[in-house]
Amino acid sequence: MAERFPHLKNSDPEVYDLIQKQIEFESTTLKMIASESFAPYEVMEAQGSPFTNKYAEGYPGARYYEGNEFADQIENLARERGKKLFGAEHINVQPYSGSPANNAVYRAIAKPGDKIMGMPVSQSGHLTHGWKVSFSGMDYTQVPFGPDPVTGKIDMDQVRQIALAERPRMIWAGTSAYTYKLDYAAFADIAREVDAYLVADIAHINALIIAGVHPDPVPHCDIVSSTSHKMLRGPRAGFILSKIEDRYQQKYYAESKFNLAQRVDRAVFPCLQGGPHMHAIAAMAFAFGYAMTDEFKEYGRQILKNAQALGGYLQQRGVALIGGGTETHILLLDFRKEEYTGKDVSQAMAKCGIIGNFNMVPGDTRKPFTTSGVRLGTPSLTAMGMKEADMEKVADFISRVCQAVKNQNIDDVAPGIRGEVAEFCRSFTIPGLA
Ligand SMILES: *Cc1c(COP(=O)(O)O)cnc(C)c1O
Repeated sequence: MAERFPHLKNSDPEVYDLIQKQIEFESTTLKMIASESFAPYEVMEAQGSPFTNKYAEGYPGARYYEGNEFADQIENLARERGKKLFGAEHINVQPYSGSPANNAVYRAIAKPGDKIMGMPVSQSGHLTHGWKVSFSGMDYTQVPFGPDPVTGKIDMDQVRQIALAERPRMIWAGTSAYTYKLDYAAFADIAREVDAYLVADIAHINALIIAGVHPDPVPHCDIVSSTSHKMLRGPRAGFILSKIEDRYQQKYYAESKFNLAQRVDRAVFPCLQGGPHMHAIAAMAFAFGYAMTDEFKEYGRQILKNAQALGGYLQQRGVALIGGGTETHILLLDFRKEEYTGKDVSQAMAKCGIIGNFNMVPGDTRKPFTTSGVRLGTPSLTAMGMKEADMEKVADFISRVCQAVKNQNIDDVAPGIRGEVAEFCRSFTIPGLA
């Protein structure tokens, strides 16, 4: 293969060297951060294209700058493909990332001070669902709900009771460390009962939805927000799907001449953003196209199969899991009963080249910076081409790390496991890196 990054290599060896090191790191570690996967070369090529130069404030056909003939075409292509992929009435592909997308969602359907229902970060919600240190918790009043501390599953009767008591303006149905499927139809019934907007945040699970192994939120929700990196394997960016008409126009926006889709667009630009990242939108057009292929759907299904296989092999080796397994791409290793913490294990795993993150688990009594859990996901391993049988090997590595943490001899065994992990990774072809 031709040498990559020849220009950087020539003119800025410092930056080039760090990129090479990152490639080496990604090629020899098991990337098990649940929100990561591998973007294919096409996504990197599109992001590295001259669309990165273009200023295109506005929307296709209504820009504030000249020279947007092809910017218009590429944004329309992304929009058409995105709408088709998700079966959505409207899409906005300009959000810079998932958090700005969610900020725009608030701007489209709520006013500062409104009550919003969301899950705290400590209970699998996202910062932008009303967590106190985020704009969303400062500007809006979070009414929290979360998984049951014993089962780890959201109790929809409890969600309904909270909604009836608090009557929020909107409800976030979205998670980042949850092992069960979300029941959007049940969320929608509750939202309608209290005249709340229902927003699904599918940043983590969009490929499972596309593959048909997770319920589809689009028919049930007013708005669906997402990232296009994570398991979708597109550029680091966000997008927002919505209905065109607002079911609560008369109730909340009677004086507005804009429908829901128009309010979403106006929230993204000009309310929150300036010029769209056209290079990211070009890559998003590719990613949406790729996500429509059978190959991608097979990847989405395999993510779930791998997570379930890995869960089984881990439990066989005595590693406890929240909920006893998973219905998604995520496993939550459960160390609530152990002397050691989630952080002890995630740091030990990293020494061995297995990259995950420590995470609060349902019913956790430890602090957010130690935690009793480790969150692992299978999208990256699946993108590398791993199948169920490979998960046994991965489970072996992880259980050996847990054992070493227990025996307090991780520094003795880490170099050996690290070498085995690197060798194992090199037996796969990694998209975008190989
Ligand atoms: C990752 C994530 C986001 C935000 O994405 P960023 O691109 O990191 O800002 C929003 N919601 C959920 C549920 C996420 O997991």
